[in-house]
Amino acid sequence: MMEEHGIIPGRLEVYTGPMKSGKTRQLLLRVDKLPYMNGCDFIFMKPDIDTREPVIKSRFGKLTYDVTYIPHDNPYKILEAVNPEHKLIGLEEAQFFSKGIEDVVEELIERDVNVLVSGLDLDFRGEPFGSMPYLMSIADKVHKFTAVCEYDGCDSPATRTQRLVNGEPARYDEPLVKIGDEEIQGAKNESYEARCLPHHFVPGREEARHKAKIIPLNK
Ligand SMILES: [Zn+2]
Repeated sequence: MMEEHGIIPGRLEVYTGPMKSGKTRQLLLRVDKLPYMNGCDFIFMKPDIDTREPVIKSRFGKLTYDVTYIPHDNPYKILEAVNPEHKLIGLEEAQFFSKGIEDVVEELIERDVNVLVSGLDLDFRGEPFGSMPYLMSIADKVHKFTAVCEYDGCDSPATRTQRLVNGEPARYDEPLVKIGDEEIQGAKNESYEARCLPHHFVPGREEARHKAKIIPLNK
């Protein structure tokens, strides 16, 4: 079996799970373990949803990686940011890239780049997030991580991300993504917690799904 040491050309590895599950840390550990390779280069990219912190620091390693921001609605810009020296590419918060990220990742794999992707598998509603299901399906390796449920005294493994607005669970019909630093910074009443399934609350979800079922599938 191929172990994850060094750079593996054309290999896609996905690190996923809810918020606070350590997926970025695991991705960085993977990068930190790389032996020094002459002429090998690494680039870290993120969608421009939240540009407040332009570096990614690994907690256990001693490395700090600069981040290149890519317009979230034009992931093809990734291909412009990459040069032939880049043998390994890290895409962080990949769930925020619009459609097209699938093509970009497949193109990179065909160019024999080793692609590392991290992102949320599920949105706050508990539904598959953006292009993550596609990327997980075409990946050579998927690492799924759990967090610890933050609901009062629970501490069970958490697979869901709970969005809270003024301390209350956000409703199903609230927008999925808030774009732009101002809105993110403005949303001081909003917070996120890792939750296990029984403690993941999405008011309005049952109604929305019931409505969807009104359309018969077999007719
Ligand atoms: Zn719980």
